[in-house]
Amino acid sequence: MDTAIPAPALIDPFARAIRYLRVSVTDRCDFRCVYCMSENMTFLPKKDLLTLEELDRMCSAFVRLGVEKLRITGGEPLVRRDIMTFFRSMGRHLDSGALKELTVTTNGSQLERFATDLFAAGVRRINVSLDTLDEQKFADITRWGRLPQVLRGIEAARNAGLRVKINTVALKGFNEDELFRLTEWCAAEDMDLTFIEVMPMGDIGNEDRLGQYWALSDLRARLSERFTLTDLSERTGGPARYVQLAQTGQKIGFITPLSHNFCESCNRVRITCTGEIYTCLGQEGHSDLRGPLRASTDNTVLEDAIRAAIALKPKGHDFDYSRQAVGGKMSRHMSHTGG
Ligand code: SAM
Ligand code: SF4
Repeated sequence: MDTAIPAPALIDPFARAIRYLRVSVTDRCDFRCVYCMSENMTFLPKKDLLTLEELDRMCSAFVRLGVEKLRITGGEPLVRRDIMTFFRSMGRHLDSGALKELTVTTNGSQLERFATDLFAAGVRRINVSLDTLDEQKFADITRWGRLPQVLRGIEAARNAGLRVKINTVALKGFNEDELFRLTEWCAAEDMDLTFIEVMPMGDIGNEDRLGQYWALSDLRARLSERFTLTDLSERTGGPARYVQLAQTGQKIGFITPLSHNFCESCNRVRITCTGEIYTCLGQEGHSDLRGPLRASTDNTVLEDAIRAAIALKPKGHDFDYSRQAVGGKMSRHMSHTGG
């Protein structure tokens, strides 16, 4: 075991310490991004969702078991009713020092309302997903979203003191022509930027996955036509690799689940809004934690179930777009586990 890692931690069968929990607090969303959802989604009945109190118990159990970073996601996490109550209550783990970071991934639509509250709860950095700076294209890709609202949300977040990272899904024929515009906008606004390869998650109606896929190796090559890229050794235990652009000094991340494998250093697990634990984004296998959570008010039942689930964490995913077919496809949508 690595002596640099503070004990105790959850350790999986491949000796990876689990320090990072991503929690989807709702499967609902006020957008319908074409690569994420079909236009007509059937959402879970509210009774199936963990209550805010149950989410608190669940997350607190993970914190006791060594999780140091908690990311709240969805669906759109900020559309869940009373979600600020949950953020505030997680803030106590920051105060105690057990949790090092509380963060959120959002589409930005509700940030104007909640940025100040997020900061007050102890959130310092957020990820905002944004694939285009063109108002019409934004409406097209999100189906229901409005760009000005999101831009106002980003401004509110920055005014509240939150550091914003933009997440952009690289989409062939859609935002290829905005590569420099997005990069320069983030540089001017002092926001980090991460590009994500589109992953085969869930039924998205008539949209064509292979047609959407823009390999980040190609994106990177195009970026280097204008900028000097230096690889950074910085890793977060996650899928992102980073470069620095000499001309702007900004950091750019690449999340490349398809063209590059990153599983050997994976430190994370995911909980859905119904209390399922997915120990790998790219595998169907999961375990139920809602049953053990509801079975007893004694947290040892839940903690034993968490340990048992971690003991089943697979070595890695099998996503594959080679041979012009979509391999390793997942039946669930990204909004189920929150990305
Ligand atoms: N609604 C929030 C948002 O959009 O940021 C949080 C949930 S969303 C599922 C989390 C991330 O997953 C977003 O950055 C989104 O762009 C990304 N995403 C959704 N579907 C994807 C797919 N099929 N492949 C790659 N990324 C995807
Ligand atoms: Fe909603 Fe986020 Fe999925 Fe877009 S990517 S539909 S904003 S959950």
